[in-house]
Amino acid sequence: MVKHSNTGIVIQMQDYSIHDGDGVRTTIFLAGCHLRCQWCANPESWTLKKKLVLYKHKCTGCMKCTFVCPEKRIPCKMERPNDNCNSCGECVNACTQKALDFACLEKDVDELVKKIERDALFFRYTGGGVTFSGGEPLLQHGFIRALLDRFEGLGVNSWVETCGYFDFETVQDLLPKFSHIFLDIKHMDSRKHKAFTGCGNELILQNAKKIYATGVSMTIRIPIIAEVNLDENNLVKTAVFMKENLPSANIELLPYHELGKAKYISLGMEDKFVKFTTPTEKQINHAYQIFQNHGIEKVEYR
Ligand code: SF4
Ligand code: SF4
Repeated sequence: MVKHSNTGIVIQMQDYSIHDGDGVRTTIFLAGCHLRCQWCANPESWTLKKKLVLYKHKCTGCMKCTFVCPEKRIPCKMERPNDNCNSCGECVNACTQKALDFACLEKDVDELVKKIERDALFFRYTGGGVTFSGGEPLLQHGFIRALLDRFEGLGVNSWVETCGYFDFETVQDLLPKFSHIFLDIKHMDSRKHKAFTGCGNELILQNAKKIYATGVSMTIRIPIIAEVNLDENNLVKTAVFMKENLPSANIELLPYHELGKAKYISLGMEDKFVKFTTPTEKQINHAYQIFQNHGIEKVEYR
């Protein structure tokens, strides 16, 4: 049965996005993901649970959060702010410095639709719309299904960015409703894919072909990490796979960056942060050249 859900777990809504598709877009980041990419910039998406976040730089050490905690925790001092936390929010309310907050909040369809209604004017003038990202947004397919129906009614187009690790049959009714699909291909070697993300790539490559068969336009996105997937052999294999199976898809390379590090610290997950090397502009240009040599175009947003 096709499922609709009136609520979903949202990490963040990002306004004025200009790198997630055509025009000015609102990107809706949804929680939940089966992969554990070592370079992930959104580690709060790894569970569907409300997560306590501590912004250490705002904390004055007043200890008000500790006095109110029913679990006798010390929210401002714990190395892992989410251990034994029942998410009651007493500490968040008590902190006058706004040093504590929650990531991954439950939102309902009406709340998001109201927000998108306000943004619709920008979308009309710029050719923009909504982009669903994550985490793996399609894991919350019931929520997306309910939102897409409402966004369609507003004349707002929706794009989606997926890691490709999902059960195709569960979401196949949804895919044709998107105007464009970004799919990440992180590595062509399944053993290496598993070593760096926790899962092999077989399901992702199968889903790539199935998504392409829906006829929705597609961009393959590759997070480029020097130590992981920048080698010529891997890039050529990716280009050949695209040429043979997704011939009209274009390519976008996303150089690794360290901006996620602050999030790992705020979430008490610093031990999970892995530092990689950001590729140079020359390396990125060379990588694009490999795709262009196979007749695959670089993405251009309008
Ligand atoms: S209440 Fe806020 S400012 Fe005070 S110690 Fe706790 S986190 Fe820090
Ligand atoms: S959310 Fe509640 S249980 Fe968790 S640290 Fe704050 S006061 Fe304690």
